[in-house]
Amino acid sequence: MKKFFLLLSVFMTLLFSLTASAEKIQSHRTMEKQHNSNPYYSRTDTTKLNLPDAVWKKVLSPEVYATARQKKTELSFSGKFWDYTGKGTYYCAACGNALFRSDAKFASTCGWPSFFEEVRKSSVTYLPDRSHGMVRTEVLCGRCGAHLGHLFDDGPPPTGKRFCMNSVVLDFVPDRQGAK
Ligand SMILES: [Zn+2]
Repeated sequence: MKKFFLLLSVFMTLLFSLTASAEKIQSHRTMEKQHNSNPYYSRTDTTKLNLPDAVWKKVLSPEVYATARQKKTELSFSGKFWDYTGKGTYYCAACGNALFRSDAKFASTCGWPSFFEEVRKSSVTYLPDRSHGMVRTEVLCGRCGAHLGHLFDDGPPPTGKRFCMNSVVLDFVPDRQGAK
């Protein structure tokens, strides 16, 4: 009988680890699939992209397209990253351009992921935005021109900037464990 339980527990452990790794593969596949239909997505190529909306509409999911190309703002406290604290890098969900490091992310009460600094100067570009009766600075992806969010001057030191971003146009890639 003892032997039976031992066997059973070995079997259960094996089954559990198999299920866990299958899930991991599945989530990795979902992410790959998302970008498989987008030939412009690259985390290493920094060549600027100047594509018409019709092309983006074909390669982006409807949610990413609505924000990236039609400047839709997601509801505050609704996105996946507003209170996320994982260590890693945030990339443009439309083209894979590196945008922000988790070290530059800070807890903001606004309900959108907020950063005080971009990864490199060319990560983003800016445009004056006078919509909705406000004067704001729009933040766009420096590679593909996707709408990411807005820039405000009420952020924490050292920059005093607050990049107020939409989660839906961000891809997060965690740092490899043990790697710096
Ligand atoms: Zn981009």
